Amino acid sequence: MRIVLVGPPGAGKGTQAAFLAKNLSIPHISTGDLFRANISQGTELGKKAKAYMDAGDLVPDEVTIGMAKDRMEQADAVNGFLLDGFPRNVSQAEALDSMLQGADMKLDAVLDLEVPEDEVVKRIAGRRICRNDSAHVFHVSYKAPKTEGVCDACGGELYQRPDDTEDTVRNRLDVYHTQTEPIIDYYKAQGLVVTISALGEVQDVTRRAMGALNKSEG
Ligand code: AMP
Repeated sequence: MRIVLVGPPGAGKGTQAAFLAKNLSIPHISTGDLFRANISQGTELGKKAKAYMDAGDLVPDEVTIGMAKDRMEQADAVNGFLLDGFPRNVSQAEALDSMLQGADMKLDAVLDLEVPEDEVVKRIAGRRICRNDSAHVFHVSYKAPKTEGVCDACGGELYQRPDDTEDTVRNRLDVYHTQTEPIIDYYKAQGLVVTISALGEVQDVTRRAMGALNKSEG
């Protein structure tokens, strides 16, 4: 399956993507994770992306689209992938369409994770992420680790993403509404969108998502 995951920052895209990708045996491709890996490795691409990310703005398409395309063309993605955080505007969605058409492929579904705005801000402000694996996500009050600052799953150091501060979150939400939300209509016109609520326990959301995806497969 080829799936796009959309939803505001804090909807739990990364967490859900990790579970869904495992259930569906397809790679989880997160452009945010690819940028963060480039930043920690000090690459040219990472240097280009950093200031935009720190401000909560989108990294320009000419950097992002090439990076996403390279990743989707790797061997593990030939039979499908789950895109998390890409596309994030209509021109990226168009670039993805033309890339898939060129390879005689198509998307199977766009899974839209819905969550109320006040919940988003609460989720992000307390979010702590493991340096070893971005799928290991904690929250200072909703899902506190056993030892403060230490990942329960692997012992890695937990940190707050520099773009998870309140001001940056507000900008990321604005960017989401103005630039990313229009892709939902773009994909609705192709009949691809399935919307689920992202509220509740992680496992319940995963179950809901799997149910919605199975249905959308027919
Ligand atoms: P995420 O981990 O998906 O929340 O992404 C973190 C940040 O990386 C975003 O706020 C953007 O600055 C940047 N980013 C990730 N994916 C994209 C994309 N498809 N287009 C532009 N910028 C992106």
